[in-house]
Amino acid sequence: MERLDKLYIGTNTKMYKTIKDTEEFVSKLYELTADINREEMELFVIPSFTTLNNARKTVSKEQLMLGAQNMCWEEQGQYTGEISPIMLQEIGIDLVMIGHSERRHIFCERDLEENKKVISAIEHGFTALLCVGETEEQKENGISDEILRVQLKCGLKNVTKAMAEKLWIAYEPVWAIGVNGKPASAEYANEKQAVIKRCLMELFGEESGSEIPVLYGGSVNNQNAPELIEKENIDGLFIGRSAWNAENFSNIIHMVMPLFKERKIKYK
Ligand code: PEP
Repeated sequence: MERLDKLYIGTNTKMYKTIKDTEEFVSKLYELTADINREEMELFVIPSFTTLNNARKTVSKEQLMLGAQNMCWEEQGQYTGEISPIMLQEIGIDLVMIGHSERRHIFCERDLEENKKVISAIEHGFTALLCVGETEEQKENGISDEILRVQLKCGLKNVTKAMAEKLWIAYEPVWAIGVNGKPASAEYANEKQAVIKRCLMELFGEESGSEIPVLYGGSVNNQNAPELIEKENIDGLFIGRSAWNAENFSNIIHMVMPLFKERKIKYK
């Protein structure tokens, strides 16, 4: 099966769920989606660091991919407050999210750090999920495409074609994320995802670049999920608030799965 034949869908639970909440959430989510063949879907949950160990004991890799919300690029050292790739390997997680808009804008992370994290995550055997997106001001100034290209070119510096096999991208416009966000229209998201895909092809060549999954995130909900997944350049959905209730998340997954399959046939 080709990389992009499957649906990529997951959630970042930010700083909301405790250990108990997360255990309940991942086991319920697995039960509710067990009818969907994992060959056809990469389902992932990215909870807080403190919950990962228990979450991993609750669901296996085959049932659900688990990710960390951040990671230090070094294996050990004088990095107070950081979590290393070795520590994450110990837990047995699958992916690491890098450069979420809240990390970039609240914690002042730059493309330089994101780049070191992407390289380290892949070298330690994780899938790296690099998040990119423009702010409202950048959009209004008409420089969204340039911003996306800078974030990709700097964030992916020295990432090789072979490494790109373990790379996913999430397009998350900053103005579309969270309680004050307004969702991007499906047309706008599709257009920007095309910009991202073109840049990935420039970086890794047409074949390897076009195989990198590019997910859309930013106020995805039950209403807009169907129109988003019908768009040619949207390989999956990265959902916050609307996915934190396992029943609702499962409803979205079951709603978009058949649409995704139809779309794959249409654009084949
Ligand atoms: C996010 O924070 O990455 C996100 C997509 O959140 P929401 O869906 O709640 O906008």
